[in-house]
Amino acid sequence: RSDMDTFDVLVIGGGPAGYVAAIRAAQLGFKTACVDAFERGGKPSLGGTCLNVGCIPSKALLDSSERFEMISHDTAEHGIQVAQPQIDVSKMLARKDGVVDKLTGGVAFLFRKNKVTSFHGYGKLVRQDGQEWVVDAAGTEVKAKNVIVATGSNPRALPGVPFGGHIVENSGALQIDQVPGKLGVIGAGVIGLELGSVWRRLGAQVTILEAMPGFLMAADDAIAKEALKQFQKQGLDFHFGVKIGEIKQDDSGVTVTYEENGSQVTAQFDKLIVSIGRVPNTGGLNADGVGLALDERGFVKVDQHYRTNLPGVYAIGDVIGGAMLAHKAEEEGVALAEMIAGQAGHVNYDVIPWIIYTSPEIAWAGLTEKQAKERGLNVKTGQFPFSANGRALGHGDPRGFVKVVADAQTDKLLGVHMIGGGVSELIGEIVAIMEFGGSAEDLARTIHAHPTLSEVVKEAALAVDKRAIHM
Ligand code: FAD
Repeated sequence: RSDMDTFDVLVIGGGPAGYVAAIRAAQLGFKTACVDAFERGGKPSLGGTCLNVGCIPSKALLDSSERFEMISHDTAEHGIQVAQPQIDVSKMLARKDGVVDKLTGGVAFLFRKNKVTSFHGYGKLVRQDGQEWVVDAAGTEVKAKNVIVATGSNPRALPGVPFGGHIVENSGALQIDQVPGKLGVIGAGVIGLELGSVWRRLGAQVTILEAMPGFLMAADDAIAKEALKQFQKQGLDFHFGVKIGEIKQDDSGVTVTYEENGSQVTAQFDKLIVSIGRVPNTGGLNADGVGLALDERGFVKVDQHYRTNLPGVYAIGDVIGGAMLAHKAEEEGVALAEMIAGQAGHVNYDVIPWIIYTSPEIAWAGLTEKQAKERGLNVKTGQFPFSANGRALGHGDPRGFVKVVADAQTDKLLGVHMIGGGVSELIGEIVAIMEFGGSAEDLARTIHAHPTLSEVVKEAALAVDKRAIHM
């Protein structure tokens, strides 16, 4: 087949890992293609989970619901009188869909701009042919010198409880077409907290069932404790250490039986969101057929250079595990394209920002105090509250604080943890300073504009050596 198209780089999957790898590969001069199967409303839609049914639509709904809550509850103290607001859920969903359309269309535009050939449908490894791979790209056989597997992840279902009807995963939870009276959420992780918050703000009574004994166990203890207090105050009803039993649904809703503190509880919900983690998506790849090695949990096995066991086949993003985050996936996309070009691509896994877009928001980078101590490090910490910050008071949102964890000997920043309004935007400077190996002193000596929320970051760094000015 000498007429078969040959690409330098062929990417399977057009999510944050895959589309970014494709664009970077094209920028580096490679003849590049991307094959992606995702469809929205029956049409191809690039951008993967993140743009279509993850990061972007969830943030759009969080924004709408936060506005609704603010208008409902927070205007009177500003002297603003408003009649009780009404939510038009279909309009809210249409706005969210518009945001998604703009961004997924943007990826298609970037592919055209960078001359990335785009195939719509499944990509499947067929066979190795000399130094090249034959790939079935949406029904067209093409050849590729390098294949990048970036097929992402799918929501994990509870054993014996398929998604459908009133039992929804992330996609379904982003399309609920009227505010449920009673909403159950299984899993108190990032996705459960964000989606639970959306529907609570709009009036649902939200119950969150979590198997783990504690809350946000990956976060710093001080942050998790404050977050739980704030979320409970908002009316989220948490149950920890529960063991889920039978789940049944009929036309009117879902019945969940669970065990809590040794007793059997039966709860009735109008909708149930199951957010108990994500599983790697390798189904359509023909992994077995070509002998692509997966680990015991189904993730594609890679080395430090994202090489799989098959020569010329690489994998990145959610499908290789680690932090299942869009920005981690994107960085791997850039790094891998550069490695294929013989450059020194690199991802610093020690400084990945983690963000939960609830209200208050939660953000951190680096080690928690406990993790640092477990590593035998001698730590010092500084904490400063938003309640002592002029801008936060002006906003009417004094909740939360910033906590800085530094090495007691060297003063190097080990981790910074935040809870408060707008902290998703404050974590950026921390990541930059930590990337340069900066110290608490570097953060404390950097001028932060007044009045801004960022002054809390500076004060928390000063507090490490007990010299915060405004406390
Ligand atoms: P994906 O985005 O899953 O993309 C994989 C793509 O490959 C999909 O389009 C899929 O259809 C396609 N595909 C699979 N198999 C094949 C095949 N054989 N052939 C062709 N195409 C195939 N992360 C953040 O960083 N910030 C957030 O705020 C955030 N919010 C989230 C909210 C929700 C509700 C969810 C579910 C996730 C969220 N995430 C967030 C996680 C983020 O979406 C993922 O980490 C990210 O999408 C992973 O990117 P990826 O490219 O590896 O995979």
